[in-house]
Amino acid sequence: MSDLNHHDRPSADGRRAAGGLRVTVDLNLCQAYAQCCYAAPHHFVLKGREALHYDPAPSAAARDDIERARIACPVQAIRVEDAGADPR
Ligand code: SF4
Repeated sequence: MSDLNHHDRPSADGRRAAGGLRVTVDLNLCQAYAQCCYAAPHHFVLKGREALHYDPAPSAAARDDIERARIACPVQAIRVEDAGADPR
């Protein structure tokens, strides 16, 4: 699937303009259940059986999709923050 288009990709340092989100997935927890891929297919893609690719800096407009993916993850591997927030 090639849904992660150029407009959804972050800059080289992983940041985006104010108002965006910062998404991280703990790949040590991720069991490739793919629930996030069903919930937000434009932002989470499984390549092969285990390689999860995701957009680390989606726009704020994607918040509902990203939140749906976060909630759907059975191992709570997805973390979502506002891009401007200090990492905790
Ligand atoms: S739903 Fe969670 S465990 Fe499944 S692929 Fe997504 S991040 Fe990984």
